[in-house]
Amino acid sequence: MLRFGTVIPISSYSSITCSCINNHPHHPTSLSTSVSEASLKATMNRLAGVARLMIVSDLDHTMVDHHDLDNLALLRFNALWESNYRNNSLLVFSTGRSPTLYKELRKEKPLLVPDITIMSVGTEITYGNSMIPDDGWIEILNQKWNRNVVSEETKKISELTLQSETEQRPHKVSFYIQKDKAEDIMKVLSTRLEERGLDVKIIYSGGMDLDILPQGAGKGQALAYLLKKFKAEGNLPHSTLVCGDSGNDAELFSIPDVHGVMVSNAQEELLQWHVANAKDNPKIIHATERCAAGIIQAIGYFNLGPSKSPRDVTDLSDSKMEKFDPAYEVVKFYLFYERWRRAEVENSELYFANLKAVCVCLISF
Ligand SMILES: [Mg+2]
Repeated sequence: MLRFGTVIPISSYSSITCSCINNHPHHPTSLSTSVSEASLKATMNRLAGVARLMIVSDLDHTMVDHHDLDNLALLRFNALWESNYRNNSLLVFSTGRSPTLYKELRKEKPLLVPDITIMSVGTEITYGNSMIPDDGWIEILNQKWNRNVVSEETKKISELTLQSETEQRPHKVSFYIQKDKAEDIMKVLSTRLEERGLDVKIIYSGGMDLDILPQGAGKGQALAYLLKKFKAEGNLPHSTLVCGDSGNDAELFSIPDVHGVMVSNAQEELLQWHVANAKDNPKIIHATERCAAGIIQAIGYFNLGPSKSPRDVTDLSDSKMEKFDPAYEVVKFYLFYERWRRAEVENSELYFANLKAVCVCLISF
């Protein structure tokens, strides 16, 4: 089992990383292997420390706005995270997507590499860019679970349409179902599977998706497992912010002591859950901003740390040498370069003078 508290020597990283990468159809070059090793080492070091903030965010319609073709809010979040949080905080993506669909989304959208990826509605937990699975979580999910029995019983219900093969996972069986049929079918299924000796959780989400998981699974349980593991190793993050928009995110908001943001575009099913279960919890807000902009809004609202993205800074020539931070300067340089290429920089001489001073600091850092 991968533990957070122990700093793994680099030789161990090599064996973990190489075994994962060598299974890949495209054999890595030594450069890509060393980059992966460095990335995994950085992730493991962050996991072994006490995070200032852990953000646990859903992807579709929460971190990712599919209506924002320029990805402006996501890019604002990315710049904020890389400049202010990457070195001392943890980014966790928690998605209903399977690994296949998650990797497709990564190709479509400029997503950061998270420290932890929770996929398939909380049934798969992996670490770092190499996506090393958490074997301890797999052991827990195997309890009172039998995929074959779930298949047998669901085949008898004609209202259920099996989702694609990539969405069928070891601990998740997924269907589509019409909205008006969902409630009744969930009751029937629950009874039948219980009679067959299983202990399952049935989640209806997005007005069409029906997922059957082991009772111990789900986005909330996966987060609870991680927090328990952090606590046992003395690394509980100072603050945790959960972010979501739909029914399968509701569990995230049930975890004690976490802050939560339902983005402005949250679906009715999540808002109704909130009214029924958590409307008096001051740690949960319904943002007025969509998707990643709502996450930034929540960071500011709860005072969890800096909430001004470098992308919202119009004058990039400011230089605060007394608070010199290489990560912030690198992000700022990238943004300057982007604006410079679009001929949007008016006072480039001043910026270059500041850049020169910054480079001296970077070299001596
Ligand atoms: Mg979503």
